[in-house]
Amino acid sequence: MDCKEIIGLISRYIDGDIDEFMRDVFEKHIRECKRCITLLRTLEKTIYFSREINRPKRVPSKVIHRVYYQIELRMKSGDLKKKSRKSHFTLP
Ligand SMILES: [Zn+2]
Repeated sequence: MDCKEIIGLISRYIDGDIDEFMRDVFEKHIRECKRCITLLRTLEKTIYFSREINRPKRVPSKVIHRVYYQIELRMKSGDLKKKSRKSHFTLP
């Protein structure tokens, strides 16, 4: 599964709306791909904060692609690398 497929599944993954096999494949990719784990964590935070203000929990694909684009830009500029060195991610 490549990053594009992950982006397509990410909202359903967060909702728990994918089968066990796809979830395993998804999580395997996430474990190995810094960009996708960053996207997932960013979206989880976005959903958390949007729930706080009572908005629908599904993230529009436009937003997903915008966030992913920003992550790509920051990775290219080295900005994300510097910041993420200190933080660590835990998988579900
Ligand atoms: Zn990826």
